[in-house]
Order: sequence, then C-alpha cells, then structure tokens
Amino acid sequence: MATFAELEREADELVRSAGLAGRVGAREHLLASMAFHAGLNDSVHCPACRSVIQVEEFPQRNGLTITCPCGVCSGTMKGF
Ligand SMILES: [Zn+2]
Repeated sequence: MATFAELEREADELVRSAGLAGRVGAREHLLASMAFHAGLNDSVHCPACRSVIQVEEFPQRNGLTITCPCGVCSGTMKGF
C-alpha cells in the first residue's frame, strides 16, 4: 500500500519524465487521481486557487473527473 509521500515522489517523477514539470497543476492533477486510486483520503490542493481538488469516478468506472474551482487542475483521466 502506497503512502501519500510515495505517491508524491511518483507524481514528481512522472511529471518530470513527461516534460510537464513547468505546467502548473499537472503534478496535482496526477497526484489527486493517484491518491484516489490508492484509496487515500489525503487532500490535494490546487497550486493556483489553493482549493481541495475533487475527484469523482465516471459512472462506468472507467475513468476519473478531476476538478478544482479555478480550472487549473481540472480534467479527466481515462482508463486509469
Ligand atoms: Zn484551482
């Protein structure tokens, strides 16, 4: 079972290897979806608006909707 700190390191690594390190919200978007899948209740905060990022599973359970009020971290993660 991954800890939140381990997920943070993994998210850092993935964002770096994907060349998204300079993109605001990319790490948090990913981290929020990873924490959801790991069953962790730790909140991930948007770096822009500081709100807690909300994660909801698609009704068909084949992806996630990730949202924050300002939209910087918003998006979907399909087949994850
Ligand atoms: Zn935001």
